[in-house]
Amino acid sequence: MLSLLSLCPPFVILLWYTMVHADGSVVQTWNFLKQHGLQGFLEIWPRPSAIAWKIIFVYGAFEAALQLILPGKRVEGPISPTGHRPVYKANGMAAYFVTLVTYISLWWFEIFNPTVVYDHLGEIYSALIFGSLIFCVLLYIKGHVAPSSTDSGSSGNLIIDFYWGMELYPRIGKSFDIKVFTNCRFGMMSWAVLAITYCIKQYEANGKVSDSMLVNTTLMLVYVTKFFWWEAGYWNTMDIAHDRAGFYICWGCLVWVPSIYTSPGMYLVNHPVNLGTQLALYILVTGILCIYINYDCDRQRQEFRRTNGKCKIWGKAPSKIEASYTTTSGETKTSLLLTSGWWGLARHFHYVPEILASFFWTVPALFNHFLAYFYVVYLTILLLDRAKRDDDRCRSKYGKYWKLYCNKVPYKIIPGIY
Ligand code: NDP
Repeated sequence: MLSLLSLCPPFVILLWYTMVHADGSVVQTWNFLKQHGLQGFLEIWPRPSAIAWKIIFVYGAFEAALQLILPGKRVEGPISPTGHRPVYKANGMAAYFVTLVTYISLWWFEIFNPTVVYDHLGEIYSALIFGSLIFCVLLYIKGHVAPSSTDSGSSGNLIIDFYWGMELYPRIGKSFDIKVFTNCRFGMMSWAVLAITYCIKQYEANGKVSDSMLVNTTLMLVYVTKFFWWEAGYWNTMDIAHDRAGFYICWGCLVWVPSIYTSPGMYLVNHPVNLGTQLALYILVTGILCIYINYDCDRQRQEFRRTNGKCKIWGKAPSKIEASYTTTSGETKTSLLLTSGWWGLARHFHYVPEILASFFWTVPALFNHFLAYFYVVYLTILLLDRAKRDDDRCRSKYGKYWKLYCNKVPYKIIPGIY
C-alpha cells in the first residue's frame, strides 16, 4: 500500500510533463529520465508557485462559499451502520451553473484568462499534491480529536487510518460537509473547469478549436453535468456512504481527478485532430448514449429503492429480492435488491457504459500516443477492483440473500463474459 501511495504524486507530474512538454510521448520522457536520472526528474518537478496557490485558494474558497450560501432542497443520505442519517443541502447543480457562468464570463470580459491556469498547471498540481497531503493529515487528526458523528473510529493501525480514513461524514460545524466539498465541489467541479480551460487554451493558441477538442470537451461536460444533476444520488453511493474520508478518497478527488481524469483534454491542447463532421458526430452521439445509459442505471436503482420497489422497470413490475441484514447495533433491517432492468444484466453493469463513455471522449485523439488513454485504462482497473470490493461488502452484509442474487444474476460486470 505504501509503495502505491508514494507512486501517485510523481505519476501526476510525469503525466503532466509528458502531455505538455514531451509531445505526449512516454518514450521521450523515458529517454529524458534515462539520460538525466533523479536530477532530471527533480528538474521536471515544478515548484508550487505563489500564483498556483492563489488560483487554488480562490477557486476553493469560491466553491466552499457556494456550497454554504446557495439555496437547495434538504436531502437525507442513507442511514449509516451506526444508525446516523446525514442531512445535506442539494445545491450542486446551482453551484455548477454559477461556477461555469462565472469562469466563462471572466474570460469573455477579459477579467481573467483561463490560459493562465493551463500555463501554471504543473505548479498547480505540485501545490495540490503537497496541500492535499497536509489536508489528509488534518482529516486524520480531526478523526482522532473531534469526530463529527458516531461514524468514526480507528482500526488501530496508523497507516490504514490515514489511507482509508477515520470519519465517514466529517463536517466543519453542522452544515459544511467535507466530503461533499472534496469529492463534488472541488474535484468534480475542477473537471468541468479544466475541460473549458483546455478548450480556451487551444482556441487562444491556434485561433480555433478543433472538432476533436469540441467532442472531448462536450462529452466531458455532459458527464459532469449529469453528475451534478444527480449529485444527491451520488451521496448514496459507496464513495460517500461507505468509504471514509482519508487519503484514498480525498487525495484522489483533490489531486487525481483534476490531473488524471481531465488528461484526455490536456493531451488534445497540443494535439488537435481534425475528425470531420460525420466522424465527430458519430463519436459525440455514441458517447452521449453511453453517459445516458450510465445515468439510467443509477436512476433505476435509486428510483427502485425510493419507491420501495413500487415502480416500473423497463415497463414492468420489478423483480426483486428482499434482503435482511443486521446493523452493528444489532438491529435487523431490510433492503431491496433489484434483479431486473440494468441490474438484472450483471451486478455492476453500470460500469460498462462508464468505461465506454471515457473511451469515446478520448478517441477523438486517435491512436498516436498511448498516454491519452491512460484514464480509460486506469478507470477499467479501478472499476474492476470496485466491483470486487462492492461484491465482498454486499456478501458480508446480506449473506444468503446476496448468494441468491448472484445465482439469479451470475455476471459481475459484462453479461455472458465476466
Ligand atoms: P453504487 O454505490 O451506486 O451501487 C452499489 C451499491 O448499490 C451496493 O453497495 C449496494 O448498496 C447497492 N446495490 C447493489 N446491488 C443492488 C441491486 N441489485 N439493487 C439495489 N441496490 C443494489 O455504485 P458505485 O458507487 O460504484 O457507482 C455509482 C456511480 O458512480 C456509477 O455511475 C459509476 O459508474 C460511477 N463511478 C465513477 C467512478 C469514476 O472514477 N469515474 C468511480 C466509481 C463509480 P446497499 O448497501 O445500499 O445495498
